[in-house]
Amino acid sequence: MKKAARTILLNPGPVNVSMRVKRALLKADICHREKEFSDLLASVGGSLQEIFSPGREHQPVIISGSGTAALEAAIISTVGEHEKILILDNGVYGDRMARIAAANNIEVEHIKSPWGHTPGLESARQSLEVDLSIGLVAAVHHETTLGFINPMPEICKLAHEFGKPVIIDSISGLGGEEIDLGMVDMVVGSANKCIQGVPGVSFVMMKKDMINRIEKAPKRSFYLDLSNLLAHQQRLETPFTPAVKAFYALDEALAELREETLPKRIERYRAAARMLRDGFSGLGLKTIVEEIFMSNTITALEVPPEIGYEKLHDELKARNFVIYSGQGNLEGKMFRVANMGDIQTEEFELFLEVLEEILNNG
Ligand SMILES: *Cc1c(COP(=O)(O)O)cnc(C)c1O
Repeated sequence: MKKAARTILLNPGPVNVSMRVKRALLKADICHREKEFSDLLASVGGSLQEIFSPGREHQPVIISGSGTAALEAAIISTVGEHEKILILDNGVYGDRMARIAAANNIEVEHIKSPWGHTPGLESARQSLEVDLSIGLVAAVHHETTLGFINPMPEICKLAHEFGKPVIIDSISGLGGEEIDLGMVDMVVGSANKCIQGVPGVSFVMMKKDMINRIEKAPKRSFYLDLSNLLAHQQRLETPFTPAVKAFYALDEALAELREETLPKRIERYRAAARMLRDGFSGLGLKTIVEEIFMSNTITALEVPPEIGYEKLHDELKARNFVIYSGQGNLEGKMFRVANMGDIQTEEFELFLEVLEEILNNG
């Protein structure tokens, strides 16, 4: 039986990371109230700006916790007292933003569209025209549910036409997709997807107008209050014990990304997705998303009914490849192959060989 020499994660994060990033986890034990940690924090923040906001228009705030922690911090720290947030939802993660708002008693103008369809910009426009209590607009850049890229420029243009700032969840987009942050007022990212760090650290990057906004918004959380986190970070401190080792890994992952360069990272992912998709179509597998909307890093495929998800998953797992199931009503009917992370071309080629073997013998 052909088998990969290591576990290859074809799930959309956490991803395989390089030896260099793994080694960073073994750096010295440090106290987060000492200069060593301030230097680390400054280095991570500087790299995030250099890579994603070269004009330095966006102020980063780095948060210990998975991507959802940064997303929750972003939403609860920005919506004003008597304001609503308009959320464009066409997948699990759009819905998650609405749930975060609801859990924090924030009113939502919830614009829901079916999975695999573009977000409801016309409905959003109608809401913005009639409902003056809408304070901002939030959307997901790369909807991980299906590997679907949402139209960022159109979303930002619409919100700005009504003078509303935009929050973008680009947790699975940053590092893997082109995005013009020039129009984005606040973007949320995390360490362990296309940035190729380890789980435990996430971040928001925000423009000046958002700094004014978070200072005025009501305090809905003690731990995830962005204005408190930002005030500490401007003094190169964190208010609570940070995930120091995950910061080390993120710092190294960002150094790697700077060396690889963002355009080449995106191109590497795009080429891997292209190769995989050629292979899938050769095996007769059907993709779910229309090609023009497909991301560079996730391919959603129908599970061949002859084999079923469980068997496909288990056979691949036995050969050291981890695929990802569908969510919601696509559970069992769809599987996802992500090509994020430090994975070599030969490993993707082996995956296609192994997949062919399993489908033929299934
Ligand atoms: C992964 C992901 C998240 C956050 O997930 P965590 O498990 O909290 O890291 C949020 N939004 C999108 C679009 C994602 O892909």
